[in-house]
Amino acid sequence: MRTADVGGVAVPVDHFIGGEWVSSPTTFETRSPLDWDGGPIAQVARGDAEAANAAVDAAVAGFAEWGSYTPHQRAEVMHAMADLIEAHNDEIAMVETLDMGFMYESMKNRLVARGAVNFRLYADLIVQHEERAWEAKNMANVVQRMPSGPAIVITPWNAPFMLSTWKLAPALAAGNTVVHKPAEWSPLSAALLAELANEAGFPAGAYNLVQGIGEEVGAALVENPKVRRITFTGSPETGRIIGKAAAQNLVPFTAELGGKGPLIVFADADLDAAAHRAAWQFDDSGQVCLAGSRILVEESIREEFLTKFHEHADALVLGDPRDDGTDIGPVVHPDHRDNVHGFVERARAAGDTIVRGGEPVETSLHYLPTLIEPASNDSEVVQREIFGPVLTFQTFADEAEAIELANSTEYGLAAMVWTTSQERAERVGRALRTGLVWVNTFLVRDLTAPFGGCGISGIGREGGDHALEFHSDLKTLMILNGTVTPTGTA
Ligand code: NAD
Repeated sequence: MRTADVGGVAVPVDHFIGGEWVSSPTTFETRSPLDWDGGPIAQVARGDAEAANAAVDAAVAGFAEWGSYTPHQRAEVMHAMADLIEAHNDEIAMVETLDMGFMYESMKNRLVARGAVNFRLYADLIVQHEERAWEAKNMANVVQRMPSGPAIVITPWNAPFMLSTWKLAPALAAGNTVVHKPAEWSPLSAALLAELANEAGFPAGAYNLVQGIGEEVGAALVENPKVRRITFTGSPETGRIIGKAAAQNLVPFTAELGGKGPLIVFADADLDAAAHRAAWQFDDSGQVCLAGSRILVEESIREEFLTKFHEHADALVLGDPRDDGTDIGPVVHPDHRDNVHGFVERARAAGDTIVRGGEPVETSLHYLPTLIEPASNDSEVVQREIFGPVLTFQTFADEAEAIELANSTEYGLAAMVWTTSQERAERVGRALRTGLVWVNTFLVRDLTAPFGGCGISGIGREGGDHALEFHSDLKTLMILNGTVTPTGTA
């Protein structure tokens, strides 16, 4: 097994296929956004169609064993996996911070810790499942949930560890084997996951990892006809491409895609809390799909809100994400910084007002927290996901206009509403066309609730039993004049 020393952690840089570490003839480099000019931190195996097909074949072979485990046997391995993630939390967090630039403390306490929670959640859910059984007209009926087979899991570069576990845990809990393809801008924590999966006791072929470029190895994975499920998190553009491959092979496909969430503040809101939360949408340099990146404020509190917003935004410290005093780290890659700046430059040229920020930092990959007041609701910065520390600011006259503006993009992932009125909270919450609505809070949620987006923000729902159903084939078994004994998942 080849490894790279990343912050003192030996990180495997090969594929993990059928229980073995496997290299490819070529590699790709990954650099740290903390020290881009310091050169590559790892040379990672660059998978091709051959690696993709080998991984799918390993997942097909591994399915015979993992798919036959009882729910309790699977749960045992998944709890062992969660224990290992907790035991290695610091190392995973450090590798992830170096690889993609999110805050180290937040990685440790929030995102890597959530990785363990994801495995525990699905270990618990899989043993709680009860089959539906009933008798009707001399017929005994039972609905059995069968594992569907090898699943492809493709993940993005932001919060890669947490997002990967969120998708891998339900697939494995359902009894499916997986081939995971992480993003080429942040491939390293996935290798630690594969290493821990091996140690936790997943049998060979249950958990496979291939590294490489999306258009190369990713495309070969999703086009493989032996695959039974595809689950993807990333951009709508890539989602469309993968969706075509899934359709070609008639494979169920779920996609968690981009967002352009409204953050709506009514005049009756706790303004301090709302302005603080609004400024914290710069967190993780805005590279958060759920972020409320469109701030919509009731006209009557415009100035008061802006004053408080700027106070909170002024207090944010840009710096090294490993330092306690830092609030905001760099963006992930120079290309992404240029993408973000491109949006701002076009907004400036189109007559939108740059209220604050609007420039990259010259000496690092940070981008200044930016607020833009668009000339119109049709402005590109309002209608397209930027995925950086760039927020827009608009006002509304009344509740009807707030809802109209909030629902006016093609996206529909998440929304936030700030109000002290219970009636308004429910009225507006119900009127928003998004998969999630938070009122007077953000991010915290019950992981058994459905998670996903409307419009171009996604297809299908993850979370709790929703993801388990996606990874299963349901069978109705009918026995004339017979009996059935309901059990847990087969
Ligand atoms: P991306 O679509 O560029 O890449 C995502 C993954 O797809 C990567 O692993 C990439 O290698 C792979 N890929 C690219 N082309 C492929 C192809 N032709 N076939 C197969 N795989 C291919 O997305 P990104 O830039 O990595 O991530 C940012 C996007 O992800 C944003 O739009 C963000 O909102 C979204 N996102 C959504 C959620 C959610 O839960 N809804 C969570 C995080 C990120």
